[in-house]
Amino acid sequence: MTSQTSSDCLFCKIVAGEIPGDRVAESERSIAFRDIKPAAPVHVLVVPRRHEPTVGALAAASDVDLADVFRLAAQVADQEGVPDAYRMIVNTGSAAGQTVFHAHVHVLAGVAFTEGRM
Ligand code: 5GP
Repeated sequence: MTSQTSSDCLFCKIVAGEIPGDRVAESERSIAFRDIKPAAPVHVLVVPRRHEPTVGALAAASDVDLADVFRLAAQVADQEGVPDAYRMIVNTGSAAGQTVFHAHVHVLAGVAFTEGRM
């Protein structure tokens, strides 16, 4: 797989197994693990194994990795039993709430989603 990792990146360390992550699914190109501070009963992060700081940067770098992240996110929703009732959220930039600068998609489910609520 890709050697594009960042030594000071939290999610690269989870991808590498250097720090624990509660993995729920993985593919050759992506992994999915539960968020450490869940904002909903189902809150899974899906990240490419390749290090890119944002989903936009991932899209520019690799269509294949971008597609794989979203494919695995949909698979996670199926596995979690919410194939028709989930949100995928991507925060980009600290002003929008991004705190970890390794591309990731939040998969959230198990709450009554209302307008404007995550
Ligand atoms: P962001 O705010 O960048 O969109 O999302 C980053 C997410 O990573 C947050 O929801 C946060 O709770 C989660 N997170 C931060 N540190 C860890 C960690 O060490 N392990 C796991 N599983 N999630 C983490």
